[in-house]
Order: sequence, then C-alpha cells, then structure tokens
Amino acid sequence: MLQVSEARKRLLSQFKKCEIERIHFSEALGRVLAEDITAEHDSPQFSHSAMDGVAVLHSDLMEVEPSHPVLLDITGKISAGDFGSERLENGQAVLIMTGAPVPEGADAVVRVEDTNLDFSSEIISSQVKIYRRVGAGENIRVQGENYLAGSPVLQAGSVLRSQDVGMLAMLGQAEVPVYKKPRVGIFSSGDELVEPGKPLGEGQIWNSNSYMLSSLVDSCGGEAVDLGIIRDTEVEILATFEELIDLEVDLILTSGGVSMGIHDYVRRVLEEHGELDFWRVNMRPGKPLAFGKFRGVPFVGLPGNPVSSFVGYKIFVCPAISRNAGRPEMPVEYMKAVLDEPLRSDGRESYLPASYFKDGETLRVRPIGNQSSGNLYALVQANCLIIVPASVQSLKQESIIEIWSFREMEQG
Ligand code: AMP
Ligand code: MG
Repeated sequence: MLQVSEARKRLLSQFKKCEIERIHFSEALGRVLAEDITAEHDSPQFSHSAMDGVAVLHSDLMEVEPSHPVLLDITGKISAGDFGSERLENGQAVLIMTGAPVPEGADAVVRVEDTNLDFSSEIISSQVKIYRRVGAGENIRVQGENYLAGSPVLQAGSVLRSQDVGMLAMLGQAEVPVYKKPRVGIFSSGDELVEPGKPLGEGQIWNSNSYMLSSLVDSCGGEAVDLGIIRDTEVEILATFEELIDLEVDLILTSGGVSMGIHDYVRRVLEEHGELDFWRVNMRPGKPLAFGKFRGVPFVGLPGNPVSSFVGYKIFVCPAISRNAGRPEMPVEYMKAVLDEPLRSDGRESYLPASYFKDGETLRVRPIGNQSSGNLYALVQANCLIIVPASVQSLKQESIIEIWSFREMEQG
C-alpha cells in the first residue's frame, strides 16, 4: 500500500499555480501577490514635520538653555495639506503642524511643548520663545527616508495582510496582481445524510463534512463550491461530477463513498468514467483516500468519517490548494513532545487527536480518549495531532514523539 509521503508527492505533482488576475487592492486581504510591487515614489514623498511645533534653523538655537530661551519672529503657518511657503531666514520661525511640508531653509522643528506657545488658543503672538536646543533634522521626516522610488516593497508570493493592503493604498496603485482563487467543488455522498436544520429520520445523521471542508478550503486560500448531499447512486454521482466540470472547478473534493461498502460509488464512478491513481494510503485514520482525475480535473475522495476527512484534508488537500493559490511552500514544522501515557498503534502512519501542554520546560502530550474516526468531538477537544510513524506498534510512556499543532497547521 502507498505510504503517506509517496501518496502526497504523487498528488501534489498534479497541482500548479492558478492564473493571475488583477483586482482592486481593497479586496486583496488574504490573496497571494503574483508579482513584485515596486514603489513609484519616494516615501515620504516630501519632507514634512513629525510634530506640531515651529520650523527653525537649528543654528539659531546653539546657545539655548531652558533658563536662556531665544526669541524668533513668526513669519507664517503651514498646516498639513498646505504647500509652497516662503523661505525661512535666520531669526525666523514658522508654525508647522504634523504632516505639513517643511519650508525651504528650515532644517529642524521644535515641538510646541518646548516653546511658550499654546496652539489651542486663538491668539498667537508674533514672536516665539524657544526653550530647547534641537539638532539638524530633528523632528523632520525626510523625503525618501522610508524607501526610494524604484524600491521593491512587496514580494511576489506574499499572502497579503492588512498592513500590506494599507501599503498598496499608500502606493497609490488601484490594481494589484494576485493569483486566482482555486475553485474547489465539494459534495458529500451518503443516503444517511440530512442537512443541518432539517429533522432526522431513523438511522440518519446530519451532514457535517461539507461544512467542515468548505471552511477548510476557505482557510487554505480556495473558494468552495458546495453542492451539498448527493445520494449513493452511480447516476447521481456521475451527474454531479459532470456538473462540477461545467462549474469550472480546479479540484473536485468529495466526502464518503470511497471505501469497501456496497454503496461506495464515488471511487467506482471515477474508476469507470475518469482516471483513478490510488485509493488507499497506509495511514490512520483515513486509509480509504482516493486520488485521480475526472475530465482532466484533479479529484480527491476523502473518507466519510469526519476525523479521517479532516486528517486527509490537512495532509493532502490543503497543500494542493495552497499550491494552486500561489502560497509559498513552507515545510511543516512538527514539535517534539513527551508522551504522557503509553500508546498502541497498528503499523499505519497515524495522526491522532491529542492535547499538548507545558509541564515546566517540557512539552507533554496526551491522546484524546475516544480515538474513533467518527468522533469529531476529539478534534474539537484537541490542540494537535500525534504522529506515529509507520511500522510502530506501540510507544511507551515518556517516549519522545512528533506532534503537529493546530496553530502550525493554520499557518501552513
Ligand atoms: P463512508 O466513507 O461513506 O463509508 O462513511 C463513513 C462514515 O462516515 C459513516 O458512518 C458515515 O455515516 C459517516 N459520514 C459520511 N459522510 C458524512 C458527512 N458528510 N458528515 C458526517 N458524517 C459522514
Ligand atoms: Mg457512505
């Protein structure tokens, strides 16, 4: 049977970056930048005051001490948004507000707190007393001090964050090149499934996988196209595959129907009408995991058991969608922890819901009680998955093992 790493390699080789589209920067949060962005202007674009105060020539203040202020003539006022003031000469000062361009001739700004002025009063006298010396350039943000025109400021492959969106706005460019979001067509197959909110009949359960998978697709940078519940018949399943092709999805993702049951038609439909690459992986939970293509579109069939679906998604589907979405490929960083109780395994590579905690300097980990692959509640209680390598049958208490924290997963 295929090992997890081999299956993953085979699957990932079938995915590449989506095409590029140009969108307004205000829609770009979480999208992946497809080209480097270069600044067209210096930042700041003009030298301006960092403080409310008075613009001066610092050479006028060489002798200033708190007990020995200097008196300068006020020749004007510049507010943020003003421009084109007169040249400042020795002995003169100009009232200046934060963000306002520094007048020619001035080479420093004295904070209003270091003068005798009160900007909150309406009456401003014609002279100012300055109580503190300033150095050349003090309280001035010089043109180009952040970056110069032509500098690369955002790198292709970045997942855009709020500060990047602000930066794009600051650059004054309306459009930004990003990778298209991969469209992921989802359906859940199962005659026992009922949509949440509707009453259950005997032997029925609510469909949870569609919703878990759609939200997982969102968080990996994809766009879910969810067709809901499909009955366990060959005809309906085939028709749904065709419908997803018409909807131009980049990936078909299903839950259920890939195992050994009489009504497990998903895999069989793919075998007959598409190409099936593999349908079993040496892992636990989630051995029946199918991969192939339908009309040239990649297909991943996850098992219906919710924990299997989640684990299969995290190992195989999330990296595939991230690659489609153009996200940078980062190696998964597992942590090491001390096993808090003995653990049995069955020789398959296992991913078990668990909870890790700090004990002094040591990280310890304990599997969640009921490890049934049907027990989604275990994942709700867990904060990581314990990874038991293939061929291992048992692990003693105090063994050091690898864990995959959910926090790390969410960043991947
Ligand atoms: P299957 O993979 O179709 O054999 O299903 C395995 C188990 O998962 C069965 O107990 C199903 O009832 C359950 N199951 C299948 N699909 C879903 C779903 N969409 N949501 C929750 N449980 C499911
Ligand atoms: Mg089923």
